[in-house]
Amino acid sequence: MERTLAIIKPDAVAAKNSGKIIDLIEKNGFTIVRMQKMQLSDNQAKAFYAVHKDRSFFGEMTSFISSGPVVVMVLEKNDAIKAWRDLMGATDPKKAAAHTIRAQFAIDIGKNAVHGSDAPETAAQEIAFFFPDLK
Ligand code: UDP
Ligand code: MG
Repeated sequence: MERTLAIIKPDAVAAKNSGKIIDLIEKNGFTIVRMQKMQLSDNQAKAFYAVHKDRSFFGEMTSFISSGPVVVMVLEKNDAIKAWRDLMGATDPKKAAAHTIRAQFAIDIGKNAVHGSDAPETAAQEIAFFFPDLK
């Protein structure tokens, strides 16, 4: 079993799509190990996205992710990191396959409904960032 960090981003929470996205997560065989609805501060957003600090849109990403409530989850499944990224779909929803969450719920490449860890190291870091007590 592998774990990954998933976030339902402010656009999808505001559009009241959280329930539909959680339903897809469960229908696709993930176990939700932890789940918390919260709003990130600007400083938390900058810390969470620190790996992207040199990208031109860093300010937009951090202000967007902290702009409203998010739902943060730890998901568990065999090969969870890849399985969750496959279910999320491409970063740009215009390029995402039709069955994916981003194709169905994202607004654009920035407001793209969901986040997922991209590798075992980042999954461990991101899970510890939000759920430091989780073993
Ligand atoms: N992003 C953006 N513009 C871009 C690329 C990315 O606003 O041209 C945002 C988008 O919200 C994306 C996040 O930055 O989800 C992180 O980018 P990454 O390349 O890691 O994409 P992801 O892993 O989310 O598919
Ligand atoms: Mg990424």
